[in-house]
Parts: sequence; C-alpha cells; structure tokens
Amino acid sequence: MQRVRRGETIMSNDKKSPYLIAQEQFDLAAEFMGLEEDLRGILRVPKRELTVNFPVRMDDGTVRAFTGYRVQHNTTRGPGKGGIRYHQGVTLDEVRALAMWMTWKCAVVNIPFGGAKGGVVVDPTPMSMRELENLTRRFATEISPLIGADGDIPAPDVNTNQQIMAWLMDTISMHSGRLESAITTGKPLGLGGSLGRSDATGRGVSFCVAQAAKFLGMDLNGAPTIVQGFGNVGSVSALMLHDLGCKITGIGDVYGAIYNPKGIDPHALVKHMKKTRTVADYPDCERVTSQELLELQCDVLVPAALEEQITGENAARIRPKILAEGANGPTTPEADKILFENNVFVIPDILCNAGGVTVSYFEWVQDLQSFFWDEGEINKRLKHVMDSSFQAVNERAQAHKIPLRLAANILAIERVAEATRLRGIYP
Ligand code: GLU
Repeated sequence: MQRVRRGETIMSNDKKSPYLIAQEQFDLAAEFMGLEEDLRGILRVPKRELTVNFPVRMDDGTVRAFTGYRVQHNTTRGPGKGGIRYHQGVTLDEVRALAMWMTWKCAVVNIPFGGAKGGVVVDPTPMSMRELENLTRRFATEISPLIGADGDIPAPDVNTNQQIMAWLMDTISMHSGRLESAITTGKPLGLGGSLGRSDATGRGVSFCVAQAAKFLGMDLNGAPTIVQGFGNVGSVSALMLHDLGCKITGIGDVYGAIYNPKGIDPHALVKHMKKTRTVADYPDCERVTSQELLELQCDVLVPAALEEQITGENAARIRPKILAEGANGPTTPEADKILFENNVFVIPDILCNAGGVTVSYFEWVQDLQSFFWDEGEINKRLKHVMDSSFQAVNERAQAHKIPLRLAANILAIERVAEATRLRGIYP
C-alpha cells in the first residue's frame, strides 16, 4: 500500500435527519391505526445495520478509504430489497430512512419483499470507470454477508446503474463459484436484466399521475408540468408525462434548472443532455435555481431528486394540483400538513415511485425461473400493480379524509404487522 488518503467527509447540512422523518411518519400511522405498542417497537427501527470502511486503489496509485452502509429495515414478508446509492451526502441515518421506506413501498404494492438500502459516501462524478469498478467490487465484498437472492437484493439508486449492478452481481458470483443472477436487479439485459426495468420508475410515476388526474377530473392535455431531477426517474417521468399530453415547462438537475412556459420537448432535452451532461444550458429557456423551480406555477410537480426538498419553509408557495413524488422522501411532515390544507394532491413516494421495485420483483422472478417475459407482459403487469395500489390507497384516504401518505403507510404497516403476528416472536 502506498499512501492512504483520507476518505470522504460526510456533508453536514441543517436538514432534519431523514430517519427522524421516517419515524415521525411511522408514528403518525401507528397512532391513527391503533397499532400495538410491541409492534411499534419492532417496526420503527431497522432489523440489521452494517457499516463498512474499506480501501480502494485509485488510478494514480493511491489508496483511498471509503465508508458504506447496508441496512435491512424489515424482512418479515420477504428478502430485503432496495437500491444502493453513491453520493457524498450519504449517512447512516439516510440509509436507515430509505430502508424503512422500502419496507412500506414493497408492502403497499404487495410484493413479497422486505425493505433494505445501501449507500457509499462518495461523489462518483470525477471517478474513472476503473475506480468505480474497484469501489463497487470491494463494497460488494464487504456487504456480501448480507446479500443473497433469498436474503437481500440490491438495485440501482442515485448515481448507480446497470453496469454497477453487473459488477456487484459478478463479484458475489465469483465468491460463490457460480452465476448468481438473482442477487441484484436492474442488471443489463444481457445478464438476466428485465425488459422495462430502466423505465419502470418513471412509467409508474406517469400511471399514478394519470390515475390522480382522472380522480380529480383534471385534463392533462397542456397541463404545465415541472420535474426536479433529470436522472433515470426524472427523465423518464418527463418523457412519459409529455406522452400523456402534459406540457413540460421546467426541469432541473444538480447543475441548475430551466423554465419555458411555452414548453420544453423532453426528447430533445435528453439528446442535449447526452452531449453536455446537464440540462442547465439548454437553449431558449430562462435559468432558475433548483428552489425557484419548485415554486413555479404548474399543475403537476414531480420532485425526482433527493430528500427534503419541500419543507415547512417553502411548502406554502408550492401549489400544483398534483405532487407526484418520484424521489424518496422529498417532502417533510411539516410540508405535508401545509400541502394538505392547500388541497395539493400528494402521491406519496412509497406509492408513486414503486414502479421500479415492482419491475425489480419481476426481474427477480424471471431470474429464479430462468424464464423471461416480453416487454408488453411486463408493462401490463406493472400497470395492474400501480393502478390497483393507487386505487387501494386513494380509497382509504378518501374514506378517512386523510392524506394519501398516511393512507399508504397504514396499508403497508397493516400488511407487515399481520405477517409479524402470523410468524410470531422467536423463540
Ligand atoms: N432504488 C429504487 C427505489 O428506491 C429501486 C429499488 C429496487 O428496485 O430494489 O425504489
């Protein structure tokens, strides 16, 4: 080993811990449904948490130390399921929250998985492919005691993709001496990936927006639509909402945001983005900040970036008819109260972005059976899952006059609580 460089430092900000937010949301639902105290004690904390510190050799020959996490919140209804993110702002508390949201997400769409999440504290943007591969393979090795097709199944999340899933899967397969294709989802098609997986989250968002518009009696044709984030979820959501007739008027990414009340063609923007890697310099648009973007007048708003974008501070100025959460945890409980009072129809993350994990479930089933479905079959099944879950959550919300987030959490917690009671407490 040559020189050891200091690892990434955790970015500090004045935001509330996402874990506290996830627990607050849980407590609200548990209270409303009168959940037993012992179950509250079990379900409001993660089952298992692993922190790993590991070295990675960089291209310049130095060795750099990184920190990563894999948290399993709950595995009562099935193996842990959830993505792995690479981001400089990753913390254990963030991963705990994301793991907990995965439990409720899988339960709300009724797929037989628990909830898990992983993350590495790293800004991957300046890293070479080789450095990313080294980081991924070593991280996979460090968390391998938890990973398995019937134990815990990672997937892509912020700044991770098909290639990273392929390296992860190969690393675990090399350790076991045989191909283990079902240990991750979101893989390339040539490696047991599923048709429709890369579009699934955005497609699910568009199904939810269509259902919400139908319920509200709202015409999506020409409806001004703002999308925050232009990664996998944001870009596909924009494309699919555009196909539904929405007029995309604003889009943002990490480098900045653009606004054009006459409409932006997301197909052209995707092409532009491939060349310049950002939407920020797209022609004929007004430049706005990421925060200003959220407050622009629109009918449909899709936050598809990171947590805690809509808070007690800005919620009163955010007035879409439909707020469709493509990201995980974009709205704080303080903001939720204000949005509900202002009649904003919030489609909560655990429902709205569940299309990704739903097709992950289809991928896992296909891998285990070594029998692959065509894309039409996958999209049809996805639509069925999303539409019926939307109906179930919305019916519950309307019956009790409560926000959809509370209704979705109640539905999800009921399912996990029932499975826990049926399994009983060991020993
Ligand atoms: N990372 C995605 C999510 O937050 C997908 C998870 C998965 O497919 O396991 O839902």
